[in-house]
Amino acid sequence: PAAGKAEVKEILDGERPAARGVPKIKSASRSVPVLGSYDVVVVGGGTGGAPAAIAAARSGAKVLVLEHLYGLGGVGTMGLITSYYWGYRGGFTKEIPGKGDLGTTNAAEFMKGGPDRKASPRFLWNPLERSEWFRREILKAGGEIWYGVAGCGALLEGNRVAGVVVATPQGRGAVLAKIVIDSTGNSDIAAAAGAQTVHTGASELAQQGVGLPFMKLAPGSTNTDFTLTDETDMADVSHLFVYAKEKYADQFDLGQLIDSRERRRIVGDFEMTLLDALNERSYPDTISLAWSNFDTHGYTVDPYLLLDHPERVGFAVKVPYRCLIPKGLDGILVTGLSISAHRDALPLLRMQADIHNQGYAAGLAAATLAKAGQPVRSLDIRALQKKLAALDIVPEGVIGEQDSYPIPDAKVAEAVKRFKEDSSAARIWMAKPESASPLLRNAYREAQTEKDKLTYAMALAVLGDAGGAPTLIAALESQPWDKGWDYKGMGQFGAALSRLDGWIVALGRTRDRRAVPAILKKAAELDANSEFSHHRAVALALEMIAEPSAAPALAALLNKPGMRGYVVKDTAQAAALSGKDRNDNRSRAVSLRELSLARALFRCGDLNGLGKAILEEYAGDLRGHLARHARAVLEDIRQGAPR
Ligand SMILES: Cc1cc2nc3c(=O)[nH]c(=O)nc-3n(C[C@H](O)[C@H](O)[C@H](O)COP(=O)(O)OP(=O)(O)OC[C@H]3O[C@@H](n4cnc5c(N)ncnc54)[C@H](O)[C@@H]3O)c2cc1C
Repeated sequence: PAAGKAEVKEILDGERPAARGVPKIKSASRSVPVLGSYDVVVVGGGTGGAPAAIAAARSGAKVLVLEHLYGLGGVGTMGLITSYYWGYRGGFTKEIPGKGDLGTTNAAEFMKGGPDRKASPRFLWNPLERSEWFRREILKAGGEIWYGVAGCGALLEGNRVAGVVVATPQGRGAVLAKIVIDSTGNSDIAAAAGAQTVHTGASELAQQGVGLPFMKLAPGSTNTDFTLTDETDMADVSHLFVYAKEKYADQFDLGQLIDSRERRRIVGDFEMTLLDALNERSYPDTISLAWSNFDTHGYTVDPYLLLDHPERVGFAVKVPYRCLIPKGLDGILVTGLSISAHRDALPLLRMQADIHNQGYAAGLAAATLAKAGQPVRSLDIRALQKKLAALDIVPEGVIGEQDSYPIPDAKVAEAVKRFKEDSSAARIWMAKPESASPLLRNAYREAQTEKDKLTYAMALAVLGDAGGAPTLIAALESQPWDKGWDYKGMGQFGAALSRLDGWIVALGRTRDRRAVPAILKKAAELDANSEFSHHRAVALALEMIAEPSAAPALAALLNKPGMRGYVVKDTAQAAALSGKDRNDNRSRAVSLRELSLARALFRCGDLNGLGKAILEEYAGDLRGHLARHARAVLEDIRQGAPR
């Protein structure tokens, strides 16, 4: 690649990404030194990145891996998650050493399902050995590795990413690349290049639980889930490392990688939805497989889950190449946690065994593109799929396969009919709401029993149709609060809303003001001892309806004992709020409860500025996602969004 024409793109927001109005110092116009020139530069040598580098180097490309830590392998090594959980373990993944059962390693057999497809056989490894294995394989294939170097920007030529800006102790430099693979899991390079990304904003803050492992003298697996950390926020990262040392005071040390399950993602040429994943949709450009159950580690937001929640069943998902390509950019592929997918689809896509294979596929693609000097969108997909099938990363059957969407109308009609006995049928009809809506309205009108009427009223409400609202309101009025869901560390399974919570949120989706009195009656019964999901449901419904008469009730709830005062302003407070139990997440749960109710209050018109005051406090919270969310909500209203 040639230097000279490229433009340096960095985010340069300040210590905290959502910081506004930080002072800026003029930097004299200077040139950034070119530190190297490669066919393929992989940023982040983790779960997806190390395999991507191995694949590209084995294919003959000149490859560089940039890793800001001092070991390769990411979450599975530096993050001390040293065993597979679910995942298809054939293909390249099979090569990576460890001990135990890989399950079926033949892709065709695997996709056929049947009794041979085990859920999650036990397979584990020593993190130091695995990290070293990645290092040796990259070097053996002729690749280079730079440790302790962070990718902090992109070189852009028009819309083509032509390299990476790196931060070293000597200052910044540029590394030129024909193809960049962003395997940071956080789309650091794509975001710097200007890619549209999905990160915490003004819509409901939902983030899968984050951990930071403690480390025993002989490092082994430590799976944790107690906080919410935004690794793009230096204040958040630093406070976590300081207070976690106190939290795990009786341990030898902490791991060196924040174990976040959900990070900033690109908006790609194709965005996988939860329904795509649950329907196991086929694509013409499948390049890897994913296999998991639905371990959500927190609450979910997709409306499908108001109707049905898959419980510990496996889904075999195909991942299309387009999920790896940031919309509008060329010269870059993205892997791992930051591919283009809805957050609720991620629990099905993020298993290590699958991300290894996905990274390997990206590496093969990048080597081919670099050799031919081709744009990423002109890749010969069939040729890549043939290579992948030969390696057993995908079955041969995906070659030349067509998109299984749109779903035929007859199937939608059948699913609408079946829905009253089988809630999972919603995943079919919700994928084609324009065809389903009139059929659902009809089914509601013609329902013979109260139960069926309620079922179809919920279906309509989830689509935003108030046709069945009176049925839902009557149901809500007739029932006392049921058992809700509490937000717990490692409480990753099951629906995050109770039945009544679901009715309340669905009523919110109808925006029907008639629902407000029934919801307020339920809200009045809540206090600091009530389950988290009840508070969340009430807040969500009322803010969707944005009914000013709800403001006093929300303020009264926030003013009840134990409901307020959970903003984290310093590490001492973070340590005090965080229990010693490894997955104690009380501080996370109470803060999210306070923040959601304050947001709802603010959006319902506020009362004596209470909602705004709480949001302003959270805008300075050390936890980046909470701060970013609070700021976005305040900003939204300032910009004239309807309350
Ligand atoms: C707590 C937890 C438990 C889990 N449990 C399991 C389990 O039991 N089994 C399982 O199979 N999966 C599990 N998963 C899922 C799986 O481990 C992750 O989804 C997967 O490892 C993510 O891969 P990745 O390549 O996207 O990110 P990572 O593995 O994190 O790789 C990113 C790499 O990029 C580096 N990096 C980041 N930014 C930069 C930068 N700007 N410049 C240079 N380098 C950078 C990082 O240091 C890291 O090496 C778990 C995940 C978590 C968080």
